[in-house]
Amino acid sequence: MEQKRKKRSKTAGENRYFGDYGGRYVPEMLVPALEELSGAYFHYRESQEFQNELEHLRKNYAGRPTPLYFAENLTRLGRGCKIYLKLESLCQTGAHKINNALGQALLARKMGKTCLVAETGAGQHGLATAAVAARFGLKSRIFMGEVDIKRQYPNVFFMKTMGAEIVPVRDGTKTLKDAVNAALKYWIEHLEDTHYLLGSAVGPFPYPLMVRDFQSVIGREVKAQLRAYENRLPDVLVACVGGGSNSIGLFYPFLEDKNVKLYGVEAGGLGPGQGENARRLGENPRKGIVQGYKSYFILDDEGQVQPTHSISAGLDYAGLGPELAYLHDAGRICFDQVTDVEALTAFKTLCQTEGIIPALESAHAVAYALKIAVEFSGRQIMVVNISGRGDKDLFVAAKELDGEGWLRFLKEEANGERIN
Ligand SMILES: *Cc1c(COP(=O)(O)O)cnc(C)c1O
Repeated sequence: MEQKRKKRSKTAGENRYFGDYGGRYVPEMLVPALEELSGAYFHYRESQEFQNELEHLRKNYAGRPTPLYFAENLTRLGRGCKIYLKLESLCQTGAHKINNALGQALLARKMGKTCLVAETGAGQHGLATAAVAARFGLKSRIFMGEVDIKRQYPNVFFMKTMGAEIVPVRDGTKTLKDAVNAALKYWIEHLEDTHYLLGSAVGPFPYPLMVRDFQSVIGREVKAQLRAYENRLPDVLVACVGGGSNSIGLFYPFLEDKNVKLYGVEAGGLGPGQGENARRLGENPRKGIVQGYKSYFILDDEGQVQPTHSISAGLDYAGLGPELAYLHDAGRICFDQVTDVEALTAFKTLCQTEGIIPALESAHAVAYALKIAVEFSGRQIMVVNISGRGDKDLFVAAKELDGEGWLRFLKEEANGERIN
């Protein structure tokens, strides 16, 4: 135990970087806040009381452990290995994001903070932040680009209902990137009482490491569940990759198990053209330092962050978590892509074969799983992370899959013609 503790605290100091990636490239003014945060995190990570409290919340609030479900029909369709689904879709607020939000909110309370600040694009992370803020009696301020507020009415509505203050950001492109800058600016001005709750395994140290730790509960559960069901390790793991928190959360406990193949799926969007996808590791991957960390980003020749596209808002992000960048270079994780159309098809397929409605993000992982299942034998085992459920994607999916019916519904709703 003593030895374990020593090893851990050493790691804590060293892991500002993952190879050449990560680090802490921030304005001077933020350094004390990040120091305070990493100090508190490494202290509480070792505290049995903190871990017990978090465990209690995971079980009774978030709904963990989530099922590891043997998808027999999907397996038949894949005509290869056995396919298991890890159902993060059954978490409180509908996705894995709550795992991280719970951990950070508990930490913030231990640090005596009374306010959470967060940025959100699609609103999923904002939703998880608003939920834990309500749960812990903290104030929450969610920064959101004005364009995104207009696009994400349902999440905005639920965040407000849970008591969050939505702060519209009118700078730049009025989307996620500008919301991050505004949230950081606010944090610098309110360090005393505010914790910045970052939503993915990105940003300056200690966020990538801390978010990965909070999300690793996914992989730990998969390991234990599969040991109980099959008495062995999986052969293949598949997860979609936005910033990278659900993927690193699933992969991390398996990194040392060299025979377990790891696949990360990026958003191929509409195609390979500039601005049409969210591939950081495509043809010509570019490295840069953006929003406080070094990694792969979608950049132009001048090093400016480029617009991205994906049918799933959660994958529509220009940066990749630094640990994933490192594991890509080390050859430990294979990255590939799935297009909007393929994801939409897989969304429908999972609905029809298993009666499970995946988030469009997770549908990317399902599509990829079905592509590669044939490369493995019937005795081999694949686990696909269903990072979230698809309720939130009603507006996109219904428009694509039932255009006429959806439009009629919206029109009747707008005209007050619906009879209840
Ligand atoms: C946010 C989100 C993602 C992408 O974020 P990661 O940090 O890469 O996990 C994937 N799936 C769902 C359901 C999400 O809400």
